[in-house]
Amino acid sequence: MTTQSFHPPERTLMGPGPSDVHPRILEALSRPTIGHLDPVFVEMMEEVKGLLQYAFRTENRLTLPVSAPGSAGMEMCFVNLVEPGDQVIVCKNGVFGNRMQENVERCGGTAILVEDEWGSPVDPAKVEEALKANPDAKVVAFVHAETSTGAQSDAATLCGLAREHGCLTIVDTVTSLGGTPVEVDAWGADAVYSGTQKCLSCTPGLSPVTFSERAVEAIGNRKTKVQSWFLDLNLVMGYWGNEGGAKRAYHHTAPINPLYALHEALVILREEGLENAWARHARMHEALKAGIEAMGLSFFVDEAHRLPQLNSVTIPEGVDEARVRSRLLEQYNLEIGAGLGPMAGKIWRIGLMGHSASATNILNCLGALDAVLSDEGAAIQSGRAVPAAMAKLGNG
Ligand SMILES: *Cc1c(COP(=O)(O)O)cnc(C)c1O
Repeated sequence: MTTQSFHPPERTLMGPGPSDVHPRILEALSRPTIGHLDPVFVEMMEEVKGLLQYAFRTENRLTLPVSAPGSAGMEMCFVNLVEPGDQVIVCKNGVFGNRMQENVERCGGTAILVEDEWGSPVDPAKVEEALKANPDAKVVAFVHAETSTGAQSDAATLCGLAREHGCLTIVDTVTSLGGTPVEVDAWGADAVYSGTQKCLSCTPGLSPVTFSERAVEAIGNRKTKVQSWFLDLNLVMGYWGNEGGAKRAYHHTAPINPLYALHEALVILREEGLENAWARHARMHEALKAGIEAMGLSFFVDEAHRLPQLNSVTIPEGVDEARVRSRLLEQYNLEIGAGLGPMAGKIWRIGLMGHSASATNILNCLGALDAVLSDEGAAIQSGRAVPAAMAKLGNG
């Protein structure tokens, strides 16, 4: 057994998450641990709630970070809103829609599937059809930004349709929050969850969630207890406080230092400004796109539905894609993502999330890809990618 401390290498993270963590966030993590009911800590928790309302663009009182990764935020939405016997319309256009179906079924609900091709957005016409055919459905669940493909769905339209038919919505914004517009109140979304390690560029392990008054009412009207003790919102609220200053009861020990990190990540977002962060992601995507296309490679998702923060690039013929990724990692300290499920071997996923969405990262990534692909004998236009991206980046 080793007696040596673990020192990870310094990588550039351009996969589907985690993204590069800002040094200010790493520094925040190392600040002194204090008690989770310490009044100073409780004050910080209130600030985190307010900053999350800013990030989600919501006035929802019930807005907080779940003490576990994005998958736990997903689970919190399902276990609280879905009771045995409930019908839930689940939109599937990638990996995370499959997980929503799993959640519904494990809650004892029935999943009514609306399926779209991987790489396409959720088709609102199909959702409307499903709503008409299933008047008893209680919830519509969909993924706003499908990280397995890089496609973004029209959340405003989908939430509007659900409301017209008297349904609540569960929306996955793990990859969109901080990268592309997430408008919880303007959409009229009911239960929305996200993650810290994608466009917020924080360390993994927390899941921001927000619930509308309609969702809170539905939870209050449950006939059965929430089967998960840890994720039962009625209990979690006792700790996080319904209103600022409410008396807090011990539920679990909050992850103190990771919450310092999230606080710092949200302060950084606030300093930059949400709209500026969205604009930066869009601008960086344009630069990466110019380079990728100049090299002769192409994108998997149509431009109209493409996420700037998750770029699915079609792998050229005859290339050993796993070897390219491991050479990027070993020789360039650069991580990009592989395709998941049916997309394995067909696409690479290049993340431009949060702090990773920078000109330096784009130029390094294009230069490294050009070198490795040329060396592997791929039919690319070598030498063109970096100048094309530089031209887009301009002097700013
Ligand atoms: C990453 C991701 C998740 C899961 O988040 P974890 O923090 O890995 O649990 C859920 N949904 C989407 C769309 C994601 O990209």
